[in-house]
Amino acid sequence: MVRSVRSAGAFGQHLEMTPEPATQVAGGAEPVSDTPALDGSDGKSALMVEHLTKRFGDRVAFDDVSFEVGYGEVFGFLGPNGAGKTTTVRTLGTLIAPSSGSAIVAGIPLTAKNGPAIRARISLMPESPGLYLRLTVAENLKCFAGLYQLADTRYRIDRALQAVNLTDRANDLCGSLSKGLRQRVALARALLNDPAGLFLDEPTSGLDPVATREVHDLIASLRERGVTIFLTTHRLEEAERLCHRVAILSTTLRLIGRPDELRQQVFRRSLDVRVRAPIDDPAAVLGALPGVEGWEPTPSGYTLAVSDPEISAPQVARALVGAGADILALTEAHHSLEDIYLELIDEDVEAKRR
Ligand code: ATP
Repeated sequence: MVRSVRSAGAFGQHLEMTPEPATQVAGGAEPVSDTPALDGSDGKSALMVEHLTKRFGDRVAFDDVSFEVGYGEVFGFLGPNGAGKTTTVRTLGTLIAPSSGSAIVAGIPLTAKNGPAIRARISLMPESPGLYLRLTVAENLKCFAGLYQLADTRYRIDRALQAVNLTDRANDLCGSLSKGLRQRVALARALLNDPAGLFLDEPTSGLDPVATREVHDLIASLRERGVTIFLTTHRLEEAERLCHRVAILSTTLRLIGRPDELRQQVFRRSLDVRVRAPIDDPAAVLGALPGVEGWEPTPSGYTLAVSDPEISAPQVARALVGAGADILALTEAHHSLEDIYLELIDEDVEAKRR
């Protein structure tokens, strides 16, 4: 049975004709009793993870991880090698069972029984594309659409190819495509079932800068169309550019929030001042200013920890000029996601040494 619904799947808010979730499932999954509204109008999160842990024997892949991802959100999952990112994706993607904890994926509780229904609503793009190289792009997509038991195959393939700008390569053998183009075919495959949640595991791993940029542009366009994306990556600029929020994982979840919030959480706000020459008694001048919580000399001037840069900057400028300084520049220090990441991961390495 095919019914007409408004879909908030990968192709955005305005498509009709999405098959009923239970009818897509290979082997005929039992209908899930609390099937959520596809457009997220039930107010629930696309992904809700509570105290989830996965162990392989004595080895802990990830531990006590909790977070939520809203519908339409692009959520970045960052962490060093072995942090547990891929295992998290495999667990939420129903490929392996968690050791403890609970999760709701695309509105459905993560249980062994609900596995087929969850898989019908999500897509997972693994790090390596895993395509049949002797088949054409269209043949690959047809083959996977068949495996997923999808209806409207031709329409879905055309739409997926359009979404990744590969319509004109439909009849090329996958074996003849560059790595970047194969990654785009894998992305098209992930879009075939119009997923309510898309898991991308290191989608730009091993790609050159041009191919990386193309994949970024595609993800950005999916983001604009309201697709919910869970993106694992090592590339911090990728997360900063594409993600609404990011989580930093190192077996346990270290930090979660918008990149700008994380900067404030990890680093004190500060002002950098460049002066032509050092002043005589900086402690007396800078240490006495209200709102200045600390200061230290730098090779070209001073860095000041402040509670509010907008209030402190004019006061600092006046005080320095009053002390005879020539100010060459006065700026608020900006930290990249990379700074935050390195700060946290360094702390982890230090903690493990203790
Ligand atoms: P990378 O960025 O290098 O891919 P990751 O963050 O994705 O790393 P995982 O692949 O999830 O990390 O691995 C987390 C930990 O779990 C590692 O210590 C890994 O060796 C272990 N692990 C993963 N899969 C298995 C498995 N099937 N059996 C035993 N240990 C495993």
